[in-house]
Amino acid sequence: MPINRINCDLCKSTKLRIIYRDVLDYESNIKEISNILICEKCNLIQQSKIFSNNEIKEFYEEDYHGRNYSKDNILSPISQFLRARYYKRFILNLESKTNKRDIKVLDYGSGDGFLCHLLMKRGFKNVYSCDFFEPTVCKTLAHIHPDQISEYEEYFDAIFMINSIEHLASFSKDFDRLDRSMKNSSLLIIETPNFDSIDSYLFKKFWGGLHQPRHTFLWSKNTLFKHLKRWNYDSKCIGSPQSAHWAISIQNFLSNKFPLFKILIKNGRIPGYLILVLIFLPLAYFQNFIKKESVLNIISIRKVR
Ligand SMILES: [Zn+2]
Repeated sequence: MPINRINCDLCKSTKLRIIYRDVLDYESNIKEISNILICEKCNLIQQSKIFSNNEIKEFYEEDYHGRNYSKDNILSPISQFLRARYYKRFILNLESKTNKRDIKVLDYGSGDGFLCHLLMKRGFKNVYSCDFFEPTVCKTLAHIHPDQISEYEEYFDAIFMINSIEHLASFSKDFDRLDRSMKNSSLLIIETPNFDSIDSYLFKKFWGGLHQPRHTFLWSKNTLFKHLKRWNYDSKCIGSPQSAHWAISIQNFLSNKFPLFKILIKNGRIPGYLILVLIFLPLAYFQNFIKKESVLNIISIRKVR
């Protein structure tokens, strides 16, 4: 059973204010109802429930990680092409800082292993995956369970957290463990939903980026930069043209308003989901331009301890 949150995960303050009340899982049928809270002292946005790692693991069905990129319909080749194209941006993030191929790279929250696979194809020799499940699309040098990350001390030169920093059971504890696995001057490349985005303001509790009960922490550029600074990271934000949250938000709104609509949803997505994503793509570029992007893409450098 999850525990109700009384203290902020990070600063332990009890001054937690409710931003959204009774947020449901609009994409599938997990029976948890949570509130979204903000700590009035440190501004960390967090769930009102504290789940254990074992409870969190239950939220991810078998093909969860590929759900944004359908594999079993007519649009599948386009979908896979877009995924490879999109994930390449994170590799370019890394290559903008180093051209070495023998560095130790970790994908924390590796899911099906898609990014690891692309990294290896690109010539990176020491690629490690970390998730509750082993990757299915490739075999990395080693697969690490999140509970075992503390066995790697000052080990990695670069860590990817692509849509995983919002999934941690405890930001303060899990990120601290992850940070200890990084070397001085190592790179951290993050993608996470932007709570301070146009789509977030517009759709409120139905915003796709909330993704309850799976997203345990939610970030804006300011809070992410501020809290990474505690661990001595200097961060830079790069625009990310991602329109998936528009499509998911519309789906969430409809599935809440019309209960029968949920029958159409398969593995968390409605038919035509990809078309909606493409329709909203120009808007995502505009959001980027005015710095209210739907997702944040961050490069952080860990300064010397
Ligand atoms: Zn706090």
